Amino acid sequence: MPSPKNVIVIGAGIIGASIAWHLSRAGASVTVIATKAGGEATPNSFAWINASWGNPEFYFRFRHRSMAEWTRLATEVPGLPLSWCGGLCWDLPQPELENYAAEHGRWGYGIKPIDRAASAAIEPQLADPPVFALHVAEEGAVEPVAAAKLLLEDAARHGAKLLYGEEVTRLLLDGEKVIGVETTKGTLTADQVVLAAGANTVAFAASIGVDVPLEAPPGLIVHSHPHPPLLNGLVMAPELHMRQTAEGRIIAGSDYGGMEPGENPGKSADALFAKVKAMFRDGETLELDFHTVGYRPTPKDGFPIIGGVDAAPGLYLAVLHSGVTLAPLVGLLAAKEIIEENQDPELAPFRLSRFATAAE
Ligand SMILES: Cc1cc2nc3c(=O)[nH]c(=O)nc-3n(C[C@H](O)[C@H](O)[C@H](O)COP(=O)(O)OP(=O)(O)OC[C@H]3O[C@@H](n4cnc5c(N)ncnc54)[C@H](O)[C@@H]3O)c2cc1C
Repeated sequence: MPSPKNVIVIGAGIIGASIAWHLSRAGASVTVIATKAGGEATPNSFAWINASWGNPEFYFRFRHRSMAEWTRLATEVPGLPLSWCGGLCWDLPQPELENYAAEHGRWGYGIKPIDRAASAAIEPQLADPPVFALHVAEEGAVEPVAAAKLLLEDAARHGAKLLYGEEVTRLLLDGEKVIGVETTKGTLTADQVVLAAGANTVAFAASIGVDVPLEAPPGLIVHSHPHPPLLNGLVMAPELHMRQTAEGRIIAGSDYGGMEPGENPGKSADALFAKVKAMFRDGETLELDFHTVGYRPTPKDGFPIIGGVDAAPGLYLAVLHSGVTLAPLVGLLAAKEIIEENQDPELAPFRLSRFATAAE
């Protein structure tokens, strides 16, 4: 049995929070360091939990398993603001929706083609329910900042130290090995340093000569003032994805990753919000409160980067888009790898080394 680990987690977004929670529950001694509790991308997320269209089967299966891991996490951390509200989707032409339903149905996704009457029954406030749509009852959403903070508070109850408002300025090396961090308040050493710093991961890795191929495209989301219930679940209409948050805000992007903000994000937000209002029977009662522009930490091939780095022992990377969907499974598997000092085959497709192989 490997000895208990002393682990530093850089980042307190949904990914750092989940890894820290799983590590501390498994007996590691954890220190979380973050400039911002709750994350950077995480507060600007649409936070749809899904294994929806457009992915190869292995990645569908990874996402689908993480959906189940959210249910497990909710039983272990009471009060997680998780809702399996279902998703109504018609953001593709009908033949593509039919192909998607057939393929994902074969893969075991709870997906059902429905007609206009059934759409209207699911979302009675829509002004013009679709004549053909897909309904996935098992999809959901979580309020991601609240979830990250609850996980971190619970990790603290299990001994984790939370250093918020503290900036990591440098990774400390002994030869090639990462042995700790320098922060604005001092230095800390550890057996492992987990880099869950979202888009900032690139600069940290580059500072020790490790290339992390990541893009961080912006995504604009509009947020209404809190409103009495209008939506029962997620709505994925063409070029408009919406849900109602736990506090009653309708949030929307042109897709779940949000839209390009353009040169004038305020104007883009107004135009997007006008479309949101038009979606509802009584949409005039909705008022725009604010918009956010988040930067999605997206590895260049679209798949997560998770795991150790050959060139930098002691460093563990966890950077991904769809981090809200994938946080419980990434946290579970990453903590297991770190503690047991092994490699989980389920994470094999997500190693950083795949980019070097692809370049050869
Ligand atoms: C517009 C938009 C829509 C999205 N929609 C969805 C969706 O519907 N479903 C889904 O699954 N995913 C979605 N995502 C993606 C998801 O939100 C991200 O994958 C996830 O939030 C990433 O979390 P993270 O913890 O890795 O990073 P972040 O939330 O970015 O957290 C990074 C953390 O690192 C810390 N940090 C960085 N640098 C330092 C430093 N030098 N010192 C100390 N701390 C540091 C920050 O303070 C922060 O705590 C969306 C993202 C965006 C922007």
